[in-house]
Amino acid sequence: EQQKEELHELNNLKTKLFSVISHDIRTPMYGLRNLFKGVEEYDLPAEEIKLLIPDVVKDLQYTTDLMENLLQWAKSQMKGEALSPQLIDMNKLINDVQQVVRLQAENKQVYIKSKTNKPVYIYADKEMIEVVLRNLISNAIKFTPKEGEIIVDVKESDELVEVFVQDTGTGMSEESRQKLFGDEHFTTKGTANEAGTGLGLMICKEFLKKNGGNIRVQSELGKGSTFAFTLPRA
Ligand code: ADP
Repeated sequence: EQQKEELHELNNLKTKLFSVISHDIRTPMYGLRNLFKGVEEYDLPAEEIKLLIPDVVKDLQYTTDLMENLLQWAKSQMKGEALSPQLIDMNKLINDVQQVVRLQAENKQVYIKSKTNKPVYIYADKEMIEVVLRNLISNAIKFTPKEGEIIVDVKESDELVEVFVQDTGTGMSEESRQKLFGDEHFTTKGTANEAGTGLGLMICKEFLKKNGGNIRVQSELGKGSTFAFTLPRA
């Protein structure tokens, strides 16, 4: 009976995955196709093409982020319980990830302030923690309006390292907040302009759990959100 249940769940997840993948690749592909068609068939002037490009780039960014998450998730499934932990300076990792999302932030004129400066060590799977940071900071940028600010901070206690990603964005309702991180939130509704698939945060939670960590969120509608995660200190 339990096996049947598990098989059913696996099939559900597979179906969801395939629809998410096809749906979210299709959107930017249409965008690109229409752009090229415009150039080829209608001889659009350069100024008009330029106006169309930011939306297409945004959709493509969404899709490449999704692909990256799916790839990392597949990798983690293949690894199973066999992680490759190493000593990591969380402060340096945050700086590295900030470089990765720099363009995304600059395009949106969102400023990332990092309050960290001294080394703080954890012992974890670097690739996984990088994914967590990238997803949280990238979300913060996505949901923060132009000229908004994001603060990344690190605190350490005797046993834990805690990282805070605070944004000045849209925030979310208590109802939405409660649905985060779970696979029930993992829907096929997501496109670049809609609600998102929920895959990013689901992965964050899973990767942190695998490394002995945890994640929580505080949010106020219209004011912003703070995602905080902990990992054991090395
Ligand atoms: P995806 O992988 O599709 O981008 P996520 O799992 O990262 O989705 O996020 C799921 C949803 O949680 C988002 O679509 C959004 O509604 C909400 N969310 C995540 N981060 C933030 C944030 N910083 N501010 C407001 N809402 C957020």
